[in-house]
Amino acid sequence: MSTPKATPEAAPTWPDVRGRFGAYGGRYVPETLVTPLEELEHAYAEAQADAGFHRELDFLLRTFAGRPTPLQFAERLTAHLGGPQIYLKREDLLHTGSHKINNCLGQGLLAARMGKRRVIAETGAGQHGVATATVAARFGLECVVYMGTADMERQRLNVYRMRLLGAEVVGVESGSRTLKDAINEAMRDWVTNVRTTHYLLGSVLGAHPYPQMVRDFHKVIGAEARAQILADSGRLPDLLVACVGGGSNAIGLFHAFLEDAGVKMLGVEAGGSGHKLGEHAARLAASTGFAGARPGVLQGTYTYVLQTDDGQISTTHSISAGLDYPAVGPEHALLAEQKRAEYTAVSDDAALDAAHTLARLEGIIPALESAHGLAEVIARAPKMRRDEIVILNLSGRGDKDMDILARLL
Ligand SMILES: *Cc1c(COP(=O)(O)O)cnc(C)c1O
Repeated sequence: MSTPKATPEAAPTWPDVRGRFGAYGGRYVPETLVTPLEELEHAYAEAQADAGFHRELDFLLRTFAGRPTPLQFAERLTAHLGGPQIYLKREDLLHTGSHKINNCLGQGLLAARMGKRRVIAETGAGQHGVATATVAARFGLECVVYMGTADMERQRLNVYRMRLLGAEVVGVESGSRTLKDAINEAMRDWVTNVRTTHYLLGSVLGAHPYPQMVRDFHKVIGAEARAQILADSGRLPDLLVACVGGGSNAIGLFHAFLEDAGVKMLGVEAGGSGHKLGEHAARLAASTGFAGARPGVLQGTYTYVLQTDDGQISTTHSISAGLDYPAVGPEHALLAEQKRAEYTAVSDDAALDAAHTLARLEGIIPALESAHGLAEVIARAPKMRRDEIVILNLSGRGDKDMDILARLL
């Protein structure tokens, strides 16, 4: 193998000007949102071209969020599995406990730059809401977070955190009273208050430019990991692994490696409690037997969506709230189609076991989302060579999941 370049080759230039990743992505929104999305697209392009914006964001990522995060060799886990060399990208060490702060700082800074003094967000388990409320407090912005009332009951502690940080948490009573309903409500607010308000979307979902913008704010994960593995082992990894909810932590890790042909990529979705529609949240892992995903439009973007035969959005299930959503980021739909990345799904039980294993062997309690990625690494390790290198994105820490993890004991 030739010596890899220290910085990645120019990454692919998608999305195209219409916000398309191949056939996926785009902008499927009511008329009233077209102008605000165009305004956001232009403001983002301007910020991207401004060295001052990047300097300020880098400064905040270092001094407020805790970047760069370590790339840690998981010595005891590697020895225990007897397979490849396993490295952990420690996004769990960031402020507020996960990678989500990368995107919130980027969009918060952009909102302030656009003169918007109010940010709104949707949240499922509350993790994105907490990260948004944190950034709003840091920048002195008004903050409203929409959350399904079913989720509010399940995630009381995060509701208190958001309120302590000065955010208003608005309970949503419609539909299944969960994330998808909270997104609908946030969209309604945005339409009404768009002059003063930025919608701080939490993953690589929604209408253009969100999937591109959120990806760009997370690219730092892979850029760091690539330089770190080259410094540590002198070569590129053989396999990258990350869990996929909307897909932001995964694309954040993958992006810097897309032109490195020898680096395989694996996204791990929620296999939930079974293969039937409603029992899982596997959108791209259909080839492994999970029912119900086909291309469709949800919340502004064309992508793989879990739906019934007549096109109604399906309910989903995962033990891990961050993976429990019926659609996946459009860039992942393209990477799956191109077979540049592979997607699979892992059950609730396997994720719980994996969390337990990491706690005992490495002294790290992972978020249940991240534990899905780990479970697949554990499953594949026996089939891999000892000289192969795997990087697993440890997207978050497990404090928020202690109620569920405690059931194991
Ligand atoms: C929200 C969350 C995820 C899922 O979101 P992606 O956009 O797929 O990254 C994964 N891990 C953690 C810890 C999360 O909080």
